[in-house]
Amino acid sequence: MRKPATQHTKRANESVTFDLDPDDFTRADRGFIASIPEGHVTHPETGRTVWNMSNYAFIADDAASPDTVNPSLWRQAQLNSRHGLFEVAPKCWQVRGYDISNVTFIEGDSGWLVIDPLTSAQSARASLDLANEHLGARPVVAVIYTHSHADHFGGVHGVTTQADVDSGRCIVIAPEGFLHEAVSENIIAGPAMLRRSAYQFGPLLPPGADAHIDAGLGKGVPHDVSGLIAPTHDITHTGQELMVDGVRVVFQLTPETEAPAEMNFYFPDLKALCMAENCSHTMHNLVPIRGALVRNALNWSKYLNESIQLFGADAEVLFASHNWPRWGNDDLREFLVLQRDLYKWMHDQTMRLANKGYTPLEIAEELELPEEFQRHEHTRGFYGDLVHNAKAVYQRYLSWYDGNPANLHKLPPAEVGKRYVVLAGGAEALLSHAQQAFDQGDYRWVAELVNHLVFADPTNEAARSMQARALEQLGYQAESATFRNAYLMGAMELRQGPPANPNPNVRARSLVREMTVDQVFDTIAVRTMSEKLGGVSLATNWTFTDLAGTSDEQWVLGVSNRTMYSTRGIHSPTAAVSVTLTRAKFLDIVLQDTTFVDAVKAGDVVLSGDAASLITIFGNLDTFSMGFPIVEP
Ligand SMILES: [Zn+2]
Repeated sequence: MRKPATQHTKRANESVTFDLDPDDFTRADRGFIASIPEGHVTHPETGRTVWNMSNYAFIADDAASPDTVNPSLWRQAQLNSRHGLFEVAPKCWQVRGYDISNVTFIEGDSGWLVIDPLTSAQSARASLDLANEHLGARPVVAVIYTHSHADHFGGVHGVTTQADVDSGRCIVIAPEGFLHEAVSENIIAGPAMLRRSAYQFGPLLPPGADAHIDAGLGKGVPHDVSGLIAPTHDITHTGQELMVDGVRVVFQLTPETEAPAEMNFYFPDLKALCMAENCSHTMHNLVPIRGALVRNALNWSKYLNESIQLFGADAEVLFASHNWPRWGNDDLREFLVLQRDLYKWMHDQTMRLANKGYTPLEIAEELELPEEFQRHEHTRGFYGDLVHNAKAVYQRYLSWYDGNPANLHKLPPAEVGKRYVVLAGGAEALLSHAQQAFDQGDYRWVAELVNHLVFADPTNEAARSMQARALEQLGYQAESATFRNAYLMGAMELRQGPPANPNPNVRARSLVREMTVDQVFDTIAVRTMSEKLGGVSLATNWTFTDLAGTSDEQWVLGVSNRTMYSTRGIHSPTAAVSVTLTRAKFLDIVLQDTTFVDAVKAGDVVLSGDAASLITIFGNLDTFSMGFPIVEP
């Protein structure tokens, strides 16, 4: 079903020129020790494949860029195809290529300090095994999370256990606010974000020159569920210093940068600088296309400037939790300066144009990455994309609205689609016009035009097919792996329909385990079927016995004006029912390990008052599908 590159796409890809530092390949290979055969990671109990790098063997170093891939992205995909255990510096190693992120091992006096244990416990365990096998087996005595994104903590159960952490055999260090951010990013928008992530990372696309080749930051995300062990040590300020198993670490807090809670740190005795995900070998996202709160480009740049001031004079090697390291003080300083300037340039130039009256689409069209950044692989858009980042900066300051009232209250896609089809003289006339544009290689216009027809009539197979072909060619030309994945996912779903609902409950269980009562109530409230709550005014009292003495012991959960509300620290004298239980049992119910009714029968939940009023709340909750349509109504 997938189509080859058209002549227009071939020409577009042939015209991509770049003159990039061949040392990127040297850096990505430097210090190689050993790899997992075929890069194949399986689940030890089920035998299920979690990761298999041999699927990407077609991206060989000597393989010419196929005409279905932007050649600059192909080069990045070659670099990201390296996998194995690598020495970074004396006492410092990384395992790369078995997850989208890297795990770093630092040798302490008695064991390993593990930085960022990947997304998948299986990938993390396989990486630890590889390190133990080739470097000598050591216990894991510390885990450091650089930031609150799941690809940096989700595999923690592969390198330590909750029991080891509880007993103090292993400590867990994270930036202040880590736990709240790690849990909250996945709460309110979780289902939508998860669905949209499939377009960003393309896990459902098969590996292939006309399908999945890379994710820019790394090859891709393993097929596994993430976990979480809460930190035992918070880093609260820049300059804070810890001695961890005999290894000196100096921290720099960088909140509101690539993640809301993030930190860089320096090992002065190793002269090694960890830049978390604040620097990678790609332009990063100021907002990912999966959706998130917009990041603060200005902060990001200022913290990189601070990193240069704090560590730039002394560091001899720089590593991060994606891609490969930089060696030598001159080289890493140049790298940091370029990264610093990249985020500031995108911020300043977007706002310069915004203040001249340019709107997001115009700014994205107008801005062109200067040659100073084009010249370096690590400042080009393999993951983030300038087109998207300019809009993110605009959105942060000025919102989605471009200021033109013609766009203030537009018709939704299906409605506007029907009217455009009429205007075009019917579906066939629209498609005929679109075919002409397709033949001229004007794929952005085809995508815009045919989208109207698909939303007006999603059963029109000719329209779906043409739209799929247009998105596919756009994907083949994209330098950003995330744009490519999104276009190719869209094409695939136009041909096959959205995925069957795989599992509405895929949220990582140990993340849910860490949710506060407030967060659980907020999550439930987003599911409220407001239309069923007309005339309902209700309060229920909650007592969490395992939170006795804290401000979270007492709660009121109620409905008012068709809206669910929760209030901490009080009980209502007019509550219809009182519920007494533990937070742990409440989470069991939320995770569907037990039902509310069974928990009442077992005596784990004690009710007094009108139990039926709870059904008014919990019986009117919506459910979410992980397969909602995106490229059709
Ligand atoms: Zn990451």
